[in-house]
Amino acid sequence: MNTENASGAYLQVRNLVKLFGDDRAVDDLSINLAEGKFLTLLGPSGCGKTTTLMSIAGLHTIDAGHIQVGDVVFTSPANNIFLPPEKRDIGMVFQSYAIWPHMTVAENVAYPLEIRKIERPEIDSRVADVLALVGLTEMANKLATQLSGGQQQRASLARAIVSRPRLLLFDEPLSNLDLKLREQMRVELKRIQNEVGITSVYVTHDQSEALVMSDEIIVMSKGRIEQKGGPLEIYSQPVNGYVSNFIGVANLLKGHVAQVTGAGRGEVEVVENGSRIRLPCILGAGIGEGDGVVLSVRPENVRAVREKNGGAHIEGEVIQAIFLGNCVDCRVRWGNFEWKILSHPRAGLREGDKVYLSFDPEHTLAVQP
Ligand code: ATP
Repeated sequence: MNTENASGAYLQVRNLVKLFGDDRAVDDLSINLAEGKFLTLLGPSGCGKTTTLMSIAGLHTIDAGHIQVGDVVFTSPANNIFLPPEKRDIGMVFQSYAIWPHMTVAENVAYPLEIRKIERPEIDSRVADVLALVGLTEMANKLATQLSGGQQQRASLARAIVSRPRLLLFDEPLSNLDLKLREQMRVELKRIQNEVGITSVYVTHDQSEALVMSDEIIVMSKGRIEQKGGPLEIYSQPVNGYVSNFIGVANLLKGHVAQVTGAGRGEVEVVENGSRIRLPCILGAGIGEGDGVVLSVRPENVRAVREKNGGAHIEGEVIQAIFLGNCVDCRVRWGNFEWKILSHPRAGLREGDKVYLSFDPEHTLAVQP
């Protein structure tokens, strides 16, 4: 049997297919992840994230493909290999905390070591270490039910990492927490993962969670990969309108490439409300003259001024201006199109203002529709 690892990746998922009846929940998906890295599977409900995770965990059998961690093959139907979940040496953290209410925090965390028949002194020392790591030392002897939601999630994380598994899998672990706690826990969770250095796969539909925590992101739709890359790449160079729209907020305008002006540079013509304008922009990979495209501009990359200047291409009216402290969230009407803009408070934009919008070509991106 071939356990060769040509990619050099630690976690390898090759051409994974999982069917539910006729539904291709995961459709030819491949992952190569280096050891110690944090990968997020990101996408809307039903795109196949959890099914992918469960397939890696061995909680689903798969219809085709190959899953391997290091030199251990987890699943390979073509070779009749299916390693049962308990033999995969994986730590899991779910949305529901799944900790035992009748046990103390320390007993919960010790459990995976007890079933591995590790000696008591070693168990005690490792439990103390991970409780310190997740900030629960003081809570060690409390019953799990006496903890807050955030603390319970830390306890389940401690239990998942205490046996130093090969791989950590997270399925929307923060979605039961309130927004403020969720934001704190993102940073905390990433710090802990960094410290323990366990290769991790994280499932979420929350793009800001993915951007904050991940070394790599895979954006999925309908069981397939739309794009994979680092957070900055996914945010600033989305390959198509779907990714652009899903990651962060973007202004998306349909147009066509009127001219290619240099390597990866061009002008896109957009028609709106009878006016025809050309915007210089970056052309995504494989886009050429005459192609129909979506022009994607992030709100923070639109400049709105009251006085017309050389760079101003579009004239619009501010129809909403919400002060957010460090910026003003504006909507600017241009024909039937509404621009989303983040403006500096000092610009002092107000509802009813007439404004001129300009765009930095370096941050105006033409992508596949
Ligand atoms: P969510 O965030 O809502 O969990 P997801 O991206 O994780 O969504 P999956 O749960 O992986 O998506 O589901 C992918 C597809 O497979 C969906 O169409 C879903 O209805 C289907 N599916 C998932 N689990 C089963 C199952 N046990 N039986 C039948 N169909 C399933």
